[in-house]
Amino acid sequence: MQLMETRAGDARESETADGSTGHHHDAGATAMTLSPAAEIIVPVDGRDMVVVLRRPRYEEIAPFTAEPLALSQTLRASALRLALRADIATVDGEPMRLATADRLAAAPDALAHIIEARNLLYEQGRAAGEAWAVCPHCDRGEVKLSLLSFATRFGALPPDITAADPLYLLPPSLSLEHRAGARPAGSPLTRAIRFRLPSASIEPPVRGRLQVGVLNTIDASREAALSKKFAPHGKEQPDDRVWWRRGNPCFRALVALAAATTRVDDGAPPKLADLAALLAVDVYFLDALYHLSHFADLARHAPADTCPACGRSFYPVF
Ligand SMILES: [Zn+2]
Repeated sequence: MQLMETRAGDARESETADGSTGHHHDAGATAMTLSPAAEIIVPVDGRDMVVVLRRPRYEEIAPFTAEPLALSQTLRASALRLALRADIATVDGEPMRLATADRLAAAPDALAHIIEARNLLYEQGRAAGEAWAVCPHCDRGEVKLSLLSFATRFGALPPDITAADPLYLLPPSLSLEHRAGARPAGSPLTRAIRFRLPSASIEPPVRGRLQVGVLNTIDASREAALSKKFAPHGKEQPDDRVWWRRGNPCFRALVALAAATTRVDDGAPPKLADLAALLAVDVYFLDALYHLSHFADLARHAPADTCPACGRSFYPVF
């Protein structure tokens, strides 16, 4: 893949060196640790075009994001062009249009480059979230977590963001049912997991947009109440919420995450609309955090954490 810096330089090297996606928009002027977009050059009809990728909001991709094997050929093609429109800001400086998406989708080399860069942007975005497990003994001490630490310590990988066919994003894993992870009897488990969303590191602060919160286990009655309130059976949804229905996997995942998040910035549980307006990578991060802390099996001899406040041990899972 060819990721391009604004000036000279090998973007791939900077990628592995600092974990960013290469193209830094005025990086010196802000405290952003990840660039909000990436620029690539792709061959279309025998000439190079400059494609600037962007990080869409969850509500932009939720209407059409579904397991591609569950879609007809027509719906798959439609999902791809809508995804390209959501994931690309500009092509050769022009705002993205569906006609441009069709042109890119018909150029295999260009499409492969774009999809590779797009998927990397999602993976890196999701990995930018931060989390801390709260000690169940003293309720004060915290231990820092990362999605990667679940792999190295417990052998558990985060859920896939992309389908087996990498052209397509998958809905968050909470759109499906999962079995609770095994816990050796008597294991002390975390009280709650505090998190800071990836967008807090990607975007400058936006008033009213969530940045931090507390994750716990899904409150089934809240989940049912949210579904009933926001996706009542037999009721038409307004145009900007056509995907707010129980048959949409991204909606189901959003409701589950809302019912698992006990507090956000202002101390109250999150509003569904506020979660929908987050960057898609924020929702994928929360989904991965929930997935790993609830569904990963804890081996009998898995290493525990030691609370820095009280010195007692616990596991950073529920
Ligand atoms: Zn403690």
